[in-house]
Formats: sequence, C-alpha cells, structure tokens
Amino acid sequence: MSSSPDIRIPSELLPSDGRFGCGPSKVRTAQLDALVADASTYLGTSHRQATVRNKVGEVRDGLRTLFNLPDGYEVLLGNGGTTAFWDAATFHLVSEQSQHLSFGEFSSKFATCVKDAPHLKDPIIIKSDVGTHPVPEANSDVDLYALTHNETSTGVAMHIERPKGATGIVAVDATSAAGGLYVDPSQFDCYYFAPQKSFASDGGLWLALCSPAAVERIESIAASGRWTPAFFDLKIALDNSRLNQTYNTPALATIHLLASQIQWMNENGGLEFTTGRTARSAEILYSWAEASPFASPFVTNPDDRSHVVGTIDFTDEIDATKVASILRANGVVDTEPYRKLGRNQLRIAMFPAIDSEDIALLCGSINYVVGALAN
Ligand SMILES: *Cc1c(COP(=O)(O)O)cnc(C)c1O
Repeated sequence: MSSSPDIRIPSELLPSDGRFGCGPSKVRTAQLDALVADASTYLGTSHRQATVRNKVGEVRDGLRTLFNLPDGYEVLLGNGGTTAFWDAATFHLVSEQSQHLSFGEFSSKFATCVKDAPHLKDPIIIKSDVGTHPVPEANSDVDLYALTHNETSTGVAMHIERPKGATGIVAVDATSAAGGLYVDPSQFDCYYFAPQKSFASDGGLWLALCSPAAVERIESIAASGRWTPAFFDLKIALDNSRLNQTYNTPALATIHLLASQIQWMNENGGLEFTTGRTARSAEILYSWAEASPFASPFVTNPDDRSHVVGTIDFTDEIDATKVASILRANGVVDTEPYRKLGRNQLRIAMFPAIDSEDIALLCGSINYVVGALAN
C-alpha cells in the first residue's frame, strides 16, 4: 500500500456508522437483533417448512405493499443475484429481440448476455456517455426493453417510463434503485433487484416484480419448448415463488434481514419515507460538492443525479484515492470510486438505511482530511 499520512479525524466529526459502500451496504443493527432473536427457531431449519416459507411470504407481501403493486402483479425470487437473473432473462424473458440502454458497467452487462445468446437476434444497444443516460426508442421488432433505474457504476438515475407506443415488455434492472427511488409499477413489466443495496441485506438472491404481461411471457416461452437450464428457468422460479419457496436452498439469514428491512420501510411510510430519506441525503451531498472548492458532482445534469449513489469528482490537486484510504483508516469505508470508471472521484451510497446526518458528517470528515493533507 502507498503510505497515507496518519490523519486522525476527530471523533465528533465522524459519522455514527462508517459504511458508505454500494453493496454489500450498511445493515441496520435492528435487523441483526431481529435475526438473533429468531435464530434458534429459524436458522438451521428447512426452507420447505412453514417457518421459512412464512418469512418468504412476508418478503413477497411486503414488496407488494411497498411498491403498491396492482392486481395481477407477482413477486418472483430465486438464487444467484442480479447477475444470474440476466441469464434467466436471456433464456426466459426475451422472445427474439431486445433493446438495451447502455450507460455504464452494469447496464452493458445484460446487453452482452443477450448478444452472446445463440437463440436470440442481436440486441439493439443504445449507448450514451458515462455520466448521462440514453432514452429508449419504440420499435415494433423489440419484444423487451432493458432499462436500468440506477447505474451504480456512474451514479446516474433515470425515470422509469414505458417508451411511447412500445408493444414489448419493459424490464428494469433496479438492483441499487429498488426501495430507494420512486417507481410507478404501471411503467414496468419486470422490476428486478438483489437485496444487498437499498434493502440492506446480503447478496446471492434475486427478486423480480412481474406484471401479468411478464408472467404471460414466462408462460409462453416455457410452452414454446425452448431449452433452458433449470437454474435459469423462470417458469420453475414462478411455480416455486407462488409456494413461497425457491428452486434450491436459499440463504435464510439474507431472507430474514431483507424481511426486516421491508417491514421497517413499510411501517415508516413506505416509498414516500425511503425516497424522502434518500432525497435529503442527496441534497446534502450534492450541495456540499457544489459549494466545495475541490469537489463537484460528476453527473452534470441535476435531474440525472442519483439519490442512492453519489459520485463526486475531485480537482487534480486532491488525490481521491488517498482521501478514501485515510477515511478507511478512520473506519469510514468503501467510498472508493467504481474501479473501471477510472476517475479521480469518490462514490458514496445513500441507501435508505444510511442516515442523512451521517452523509453530512461524511462531508465534514472529507473537508477535514483535505484540510489536513494541505498542511
Ligand atoms: C450491484 C448491481 C448488479 C449486480 O448485482 P449482483 O447481485 O452482484 O449480481 C447489477 N446491476 C446493478 C444496477 C447493480 O447495482
């Protein structure tokens, strides 16, 4: 490691919780306490029996409430996280041709999965520069539009809207957005995510909120006889989800932590509560950066600046990597930028579990470190 000067941030300036990573992200203590309280009757018990299935049912019902899902929408889940869901969608959501908005590391990955699939036509890929997002274009050949609600690698968020006149289904990667950004369920057919970001749990699971049109797509591809590996078969996932089960054994602790976070969100007012918290955190972070002589928001259009993942560029005189490593030495972790973006910046998660007050304290701690480096 390069030598970082030994800078001690005064304890009164430090955030109460030092976790600002974009996933796995901060887990609230109350979630862990709830897990420990249930441990002897829940952990180490069969996922095919009522105790665990009721917990999966809590997750499915809780998401239905949180997102105010219309009748006919279903909550699916399976193992493997979002990356596995891309493969499942490649087998089992795209009929023939998809259109992808590509504006960063994550949004480009699903496009690559489809492009490499021998049973599908080459996808239409609409790109834009990092720090911006493209817009989808209705096209009668397209049967699935692949959008990304929040591009976690760049800190760009986009409003989710069906392309006008589109007949295909709308599938949204909401891995970091879901639970922290507002969405209108009438604007999507499949809104999929994993629990280690806004839902403050662990990775390895995927969840998908599916409209009747998405369910019908799953049923019709299953009926078409297309070969699909069972692990990526969304019809198997659908049938298991309806029974509050997964195809193979899930991580029980992950489901429990997730259920607690969904319950916390719903008890405090649902998406209005969570998006209020993330909006307040984002206001604090971006207005600090705009006022700072050495920092500025990377995303130039304020409407595109994510409320859950903030990317802050530093002027050339300040080495952001050094700032991140000094923060880390003081217990404030995972503010490093997305590695492949290669910018002199910090990336800061503002998921609902993260207190806005801690974002303000983080800004103060960064000011302290930069001041100490200048002396
Ligand atoms: C984190 C992330 C992923 C990858 O999720 P995994 O569960 O690790 O596969 C995909 N898309 C977005 C937008 C993400 O933020």
